Amino acid sequence: MSTSVRRPTPRAAAGLAARVAAGENPIGRARRVNRILRSLAEAYPAARCELDFRTPLDLAVATILSAQCTDERVNQVTPALFARHPTAADYAGADRTELEALIRPTGFYRNKTNSLIGLGAAVVERHGGELPATLDDLVKLPGIGRKTANVILGNAFDVPGITVDTHFGRLVRRWGWTAEEDPVKVEQTVGELVPRRDWTIVSHHVIFHGRRVCHARKPACGACTLASDCPAYGLGPTDPGAASALVKGPEREHLLALAGIVTDEAGR
Ligand code: SF4
Repeated sequence: MSTSVRRPTPRAAAGLAARVAAGENPIGRARRVNRILRSLAEAYPAARCELDFRTPLDLAVATILSAQCTDERVNQVTPALFARHPTAADYAGADRTELEALIRPTGFYRNKTNSLIGLGAAVVERHGGELPATLDDLVKLPGIGRKTANVILGNAFDVPGITVDTHFGRLVRRWGWTAEEDPVKVEQTVGELVPRRDWTIVSHHVIFHGRRVCHARKPACGACTLASDCPAYGLGPTDPGAASALVKGPEREHLLALAGIVTDEAGR
């Protein structure tokens, strides 16, 4: 492995952390936010919803199944599920035992079955079988909270939405964009920092970075392209070798190259 990455000096990193903790001035913060957004767009040019779906209803179902489960596993069960239940009426009238068996690999399958049957019935009764396209209507449906509703709006209806999941909340707090813990307040604060048209794609970018680089327990700070703009730099290993071993996902080599870390053919 060879490195030519520019990481912040300890003094620069401490200076940024102190400025953010003291209340960064709005112009400085806006510039830093924009640099982070540009770096994320460069890091994840193919970022998208990682759940497979064809219709808004499919996406609502997949998002309900993704609770406490990986997107990969959800994508393994949804082809058969969607083929058997193409409409809301199919979920409303589903055979519970059969539905449970289909979604069992995603965990919590009894609760999720209740949600899917309830969702189908509510969409048929209240919306003529079509999933509604507003936040207010979506959050009143069984199994759909604000986070799920924003995923559906942004990815199935092209209505900009900020998805505050565990990754999103953790990262924007680390970057000092907000100190809020409440997801609705996080959504509001970030919504003022990021142009509305970019809300959906920025949600993907942030979540991708949280899954691949900025992990909850050991963030890969020494292999992170955001290092010089992150007040939490140093929370994880800053040594490029140790940090690059923590970077995950199909874009790993691209991410390491952007960070100035060149790996050998074995990816080390
Ligand atoms: S990996 Fe480290 S430097 Fe990068 S965003 Fe996370 S805390 Fe900041």
